[in-house]
Amino acid sequence: MKLVVATNNQGKVKEFKQLLEPLGFEPVSLRDEGIVIDVAEDGETFAENAHIKAQAVYEICKCPVLADDSGLEIEFLGGAPGIYSARYAGEDATDADRCSKVLSELEGVDISMRSARFACALYCIIDDDTEYSVLGTMNGFIGTEPMGENGFGYDPIFMIDEETSVAMISDEEKNKISHRAEAMRKLAEVLRANG
Ligand code: IMP
Repeated sequence: MKLVVATNNQGKVKEFKQLLEPLGFEPVSLRDEGIVIDVAEDGETFAENAHIKAQAVYEICKCPVLADDSGLEIEFLGGAPGIYSARYAGEDATDADRCSKVLSELEGVDISMRSARFACALYCIIDDDTEYSVLGTMNGFIGTEPMGENGFGYDPIFMIDEETSVAMISDEEKNKISHRAEAMRKLAEVLRANG
């Protein structure tokens, strides 16, 4: 069964293929389907934003759709940057700018108060009566300087232990423990359970 993934990010489509093809789904991107859409992500949670994107694409294609939304939540900052993770340091900022901004907001904050998590919401619409929402998370804490060259986004400042940032592990290792991987495992479970 074809499943339109509400993204043009081929990396995400590849991850979804690996997980969902064994369940009989054929994930395709918006571009593959010739769908051009710019959805205002004005929800208040990752799950709401994923729902908004999935619904907008479903209205167009009337076929099974999957959308995601993800970001970083820092306890000391009351959950920021949260749903604003991609735009946290302004529209034209780089990943390095966003990491610097977080580090400066946490300057002088003790390691015990730097807890953080990545979250990924997935929203899947199969038909008018069948929708699934799942959330995956990865816990860690914010380091005091960027470390490592792999990954993207906030990976260089997101520590999984005292010596290791997510940017220091391989893609393969990250894909076992990440928020996105957990969300995809949960989605695969509900899809399998519901036939
Ligand atoms: P989106 O879900 O593609 O909109 O991503 C939102 C933002 O959250 C990204 O631009 C990154 O800044 C951040 N983010 C989401 N997942 C990760 C991750 O696995 N590592 C680092 N940053 C992430």
